[in-house]
Amino acid sequence: MTFSIHGLAVARGIAIGRVVLVASSRVDVAHYFIQPEQVSSEIKRLAFARDAVVKEVQGIQQNMPKDAPAELAAMLDVHLMLLEDELLSDGIKHWIGERLYNAEWALTSQLEVVARQFDEMLDPYLRERKADLEQVVERILRHMKGLPNALPVERSPRPGSSRQQDLLLEDSVDVPLVLVAHDLSPADMLQFKQSVFAGFVTDVGGKTSHTAIVARSLDIPAVVGARGASHWVKQDDWVIIDGDQGVMIVDPSAFILAEYGFKQRQASLERERLSRLRHTPAVSLDGQKVELLANIELPEDTVSAITVGAVGVGLFRSEFLFMGRDGKLPDEEQQFQAYLKAVQGMKGLPVTIRTVDIGADKPLDKPSERGPKEENYLNPALGLRAIRWSLADPEMFLTQLRAILRAAAHGQVHLLIPMLAHAKEIKQTLQLIEQARRELDQRALVHGPVKLGAMIEIPAAALSLPLFLKHFDFLSIGTNDLIQYTLAIDRADESVAHLYDPLHPAVLGLISNTIKAAHDMGKGVSVCGEMAGDPSLTKLLLGMGLRSFSMHPTQILTVKQEILRTDIGKLKNWVHEVMMSEHPATIVNG
Ligand code: PEP
Ligand code: MG
Repeated sequence: MTFSIHGLAVARGIAIGRVVLVASSRVDVAHYFIQPEQVSSEIKRLAFARDAVVKEVQGIQQNMPKDAPAELAAMLDVHLMLLEDELLSDGIKHWIGERLYNAEWALTSQLEVVARQFDEMLDPYLRERKADLEQVVERILRHMKGLPNALPVERSPRPGSSRQQDLLLEDSVDVPLVLVAHDLSPADMLQFKQSVFAGFVTDVGGKTSHTAIVARSLDIPAVVGARGASHWVKQDDWVIIDGDQGVMIVDPSAFILAEYGFKQRQASLERERLSRLRHTPAVSLDGQKVELLANIELPEDTVSAITVGAVGVGLFRSEFLFMGRDGKLPDEEQQFQAYLKAVQGMKGLPVTIRTVDIGADKPLDKPSERGPKEENYLNPALGLRAIRWSLADPEMFLTQLRAILRAAAHGQVHLLIPMLAHAKEIKQTLQLIEQARRELDQRALVHGPVKLGAMIEIPAAALSLPLFLKHFDFLSIGTNDLIQYTLAIDRADESVAHLYDPLHPAVLGLISNTIKAAHDMGKGVSVCGEMAGDPSLTKLLLGMGLRSFSMHPTQILTVKQEILRTDIGKLKNWVHEVMMSEHPATIVNG
C-alpha cells in the first residue's frame, strides 16, 4: 500500500530506488562497501569475532559463582544459541557477499531484519528475545571495535527456542539504492560519499545539520527529520525520495512512479541546461561582478568545484579530515598533504582552510588521546566546539596551523577561524599562529603568507565587528550557526526546525551590518553558510551588498543563474522594504 512520510527537504531532486536500512546501534558502526575480493576475509572477520564472543560467554558460564541467579545461566544459554543461529549468519553472508557491505554493516542490517520478525511474533516470550539478539550483536560489534564487553545482567529470561526462516532477500544489486536511517553522523555521510546511493532519508536532523550539509554536497536527493521513516520502511521496499518537497513515498503505485519518472527527466534536462553556464562569469545585469566560491569537505571535492567554475574555495571544512579515524588525529604531514592536494586541485585559485570545527553535531569517533574529555566536547552547540576546542588543545591546533602554513607556500591560502567571540580568543589564536611559524622556522620548513579570516557566526561577534575588523583581513559569515545562536534553536533538531528562519529580522540585521562594516573598512566579506547557496535568497544578499558567496559546488550554477538575471542597482527600495518588515519572508518569497 502506498503511503508517504514527510520531513525537511535538504537536497533537491528525485530518487527512485530500493531501501537500504541502516540499523541504529549503541555501538558506532562504520558503513562502507568492500571490494568483491574482500568478501571471504570480511566473512572470516565476522566469524572470528563471533567465535571470540562465544568463548567469552562460555567462559562466563564456567566461572559463574554457585549462588548466581538461575536466570543468568538461562540468559547466557539463549545468547549462545543466538550466536550459533543460522538465521543470523546466513543473512550476514548475503549482505556481505551480494551487497558488498562491510562486516559490521552486514551484521546490523541482518539484526534489523531478524528483529522485525521477532516484533511480529505472537508469543510474548519469543518477542522479548529481540533484546537478547540486540545484546548479542552488540557484543560482537564491541569485540570488532576492540571495546570491553560488559556482561548485561538486567534481564530475566526463560529458556526457549528460536525459529529458522529463510530471510535471504532476493538479489537487487543493479537497482538504485536509497539509504534510510534513524540518524547518520557527518562521519557516516562522508563514507557514503564514495558510495552508490541515489538518495537519503533520516528520521532526525535539521536543514542545516552537518549531516544535511554533507548530503547536499553529494548532490543527491535527501530528506531529514522524516520522523518514523526508518521504522515504517523495510529493507528493499521501493521508495521515491522527493528532495524538493521533503517527502518519501513508500511502495508507490505505477501511476505515481510514472509521474516521478517524468519529474526526474525534467530535472536532468534542467541540470544539463545549467551546465552551459559553467564558464560564464558571474556578473549581474547591471555589470557588477560577483565571486562564487565552493564549500568543500575533502581535498577531492576540488574536482567538482573546478567543474562548475568556482573561482576558489571559500570554506574547506577541515574537520572532516579528523573524522572516521577512530579518534586518532591526523599528524602534521597527513594534514599538509591534504591541504596541498586541495591547493593543487584549485590550480592557483585561492583556498580558504577553516581550522577544525569539531564538537556539537560533529563529534570525533572517539575522544582523542590528548584533547578535551568526551563529556566536554560532546556537549551540544554551546559546548567546547571549534576554536574553543582548538585552544583547549594547543598541541593539536599548532599541528594544524603548521600544516596549513606549509601548504600556503604552494598557493594562495586563506586561514579561517571558526566560532570566535572573545578578544582573548583572538589574541591567543594570533599568538599560536606566530608560534607555529617560529616552529617551522626552527625546523627549516618553508611556509607561506596567509590572509587571515574570522567566521562571524556568534551574535556576539556580529555585534562587536570593529574588534574583528581590526585583527582580520576578511570576514566570513557562517549563517548556519549565526541563525542557530541568534534564535536559540538547535540547528540539528527537527522539532524546532520550523523556527529556523534565515529571514528573521534579527538575523537579516546582523548579516547586513556585517557586510556593511567590512566594506566600510575595505575588507573582504563573504557568506559561507547555507543561505549563500539558496537561490531564493540570492537577490536579497546581493541587495545587501554581498559580492562573495561560498556554497556547495552543486549550487553554484543555480545561484549564478539568479545573479545573471538580477539588476542589483534596482534592488535598493525592495531590500529596504524587506529589512523594515516584520515578516520579511512574505516579501522575499511573495
Ligand atoms: C556556518 O555555521 O554557517 C558554517 C558555514 O559553518 P558550519 O556549517 O560548518 O558550522
Ligand atoms: Mg558554523
